[in-house]
Amino acid sequence: MLTLILFSVNLLFLSGAVLFTYESLREKEPRAPKVGLAGVLFHLILGGFILAVPSVRPVAAVFFGVALFILLLFLVPSVANPRALKGASGCAVGPVSRFDERDIVFARNRSLPPGSEPYRQYYEGHPEKEAYDARRRERGGPIGRPGAIDGGHPPNVSMILSSFALPAFLASQARVTPDPAKPPVALPPEKAAQIVKGFASHLGAALVGICRVNPLWAYSHRGEIFYGNWEDWGKEIEEPLPFAVVIATEMDLENVGAGPHTPALVESSANYALGAYVTTILAQWFGGLGYRAVAQHNRHYDLLLVPLAIEAGLGELGRHGYLVADQLGPRVRLFAVTTDMPLATDNPIDKGIEAFCRFCKKCATACPSHSIPLRGMTVQNGLERWKLNEETCFDYWGKIGTDCSVCMGICPFSRPNRTVHRIVKWLLPRSYLAQRLLPHLDNWVYGQKWKPKAVAPWVDYSS
Ligand code: SF4
Ligand code: SF4
Repeated sequence: MLTLILFSVNLLFLSGAVLFTYESLREKEPRAPKVGLAGVLFHLILGGFILAVPSVRPVAAVFFGVALFILLLFLVPSVANPRALKGASGCAVGPVSRFDERDIVFARNRSLPPGSEPYRQYYEGHPEKEAYDARRRERGGPIGRPGAIDGGHPPNVSMILSSFALPAFLASQARVTPDPAKPPVALPPEKAAQIVKGFASHLGAALVGICRVNPLWAYSHRGEIFYGNWEDWGKEIEEPLPFAVVIATEMDLENVGAGPHTPALVESSANYALGAYVTTILAQWFGGLGYRAVAQHNRHYDLLLVPLAIEAGLGELGRHGYLVADQLGPRVRLFAVTTDMPLATDNPIDKGIEAFCRFCKKCATACPSHSIPLRGMTVQNGLERWKLNEETCFDYWGKIGTDCSVCMGICPFSRPNRTVHRIVKWLLPRSYLAQRLLPHLDNWVYGQKWKPKAVAPWVDYSS
C-alpha cells in the first residue's frame, strides 16, 4: 500500500516537472527547462527506487511528507494590500501637486527648439538642465539614432518610423467637441460602459477599464507641441473631463523578449499606432453621441496614464515604475479616452504584485543603466513608491537607439498565461507564503540575468 501511495505521489510530482519543462521550452527560457529537466530525472529515478529498493521507501515518505507540508502552508491566506485597493491614490502619504508636462524628458527634448522663446523661458527657470539636455539633443533625443544597437537595421527602423507616423498624424484630431445643436444621447452608465468596453476590445484593446479622473493625475501645464500649436506651450491644462476609459494594448512577448534590440521598439511603436487608432475612434464615438472627449495617446497626453490605469483596475504599480497589468504584466502600452459621458466605473485591484515586487527585484538587477531602485520605496511629491530614474533610463535609450524594454521582458508577470503561470497568478493574491517564497524561487529557477531571445525572421536584426 505504502509503495502505491508513494509511487502515485511521485507520479504527480513527475507530471508537474514534465509540464513545467514543456512550458518553459515553449517560452524559450534559457535556464528554466534545465531546472525542469533535473526535476523530471530526479522523479524518474526516485520512482524506480521506490519500486525496486524497499529501504528507500521510508526516506521517500519523509521527503514527500515535508513537501506536502510546505504545499499546505501555501494555503495560509495573505492580508489584503490597502494601498493597492485605494488605487494610485494609495501611494499618497502627503500633499501631491500636479506634474508639469514641460518637465518630462520627451517634452524638454522635442518641444524646446534651441533659440526659441519657450527654450529661453524654460531654461531660465531650470538652468541645471540645459547642458544635460543639450548633450542629449546632440545624440538625437531620448531615442538617439534609431536602431543604433543593431547598426541601424533599416527594415526595422523603417517599421518604427512608419508606426510612429500614425499618432503624429492623428494628434490634431484628439480633442472632440460635439455639435452644440445636437442634444447628447442619454444611456444608462452601465450600458454605456458595456458598449464602450466591447467596442474598444473589438478595435484592438487587450484590456479596458473605466475610472473617474482624479485631477491630480492631469498635467498642470502643456509642454509637448506636436502640430505647431506653440500658443499652447506653458498654458495651464484645463481640468480634465470626469471619466476615463483606459485601454491597454498587448505587446508581443517575443518582440519584447528581444530587448534592448530593435524588435522591442518595433513592438512599442506598433502599439502606439494601435493605441492612437483605437482612442481616436473612441473619442469620435463619444463626440457622435453628443459628448466631449479627448484621446490620450502618444502624440496627445493631458494625463499620466499609469495612475489612471491603476484606478481603472487594470493592474498595479511595479518596482520598475510601469503598470503590471492583470494577466499581461508590464507587456502593455497604455492609452485612454477622457469624456463627460457618465460611465459605470471599475475598482482598483490587489493581485499581490506589490508584495511580489518587494522580494523579486529582477528588473532592478537586470536593468543595464541601474535606473530601477533595488532598495525600498522613497517619497517624492507626496507619493511613496519605487521611483525609476528616468534620466539615466532615457540616457541608455539614447545610446542604443531603442526603448530597451529589458525590465518588461524579464518581469515574471510578462510570461504568457500558460498553466504554471496561471496557477501562480491565482495563488499570489491569496497566499502569504506565495508572495514571499515565489519571488526567490522564480529567481532561482529562471535566473536573474537577461539574455535577449530569438525573434521571427520578419523582424530579425542579426543580419
Ligand atoms: S521584475 Fe520583479 S520586481 Fe520588477 S516589476 Fe516585475 S515582479 Fe516586480
Ligand atoms: S527600459 Fe531599460 S534602462 Fe530603462 S529602466 Fe527598463 S531596463 Fe532600465
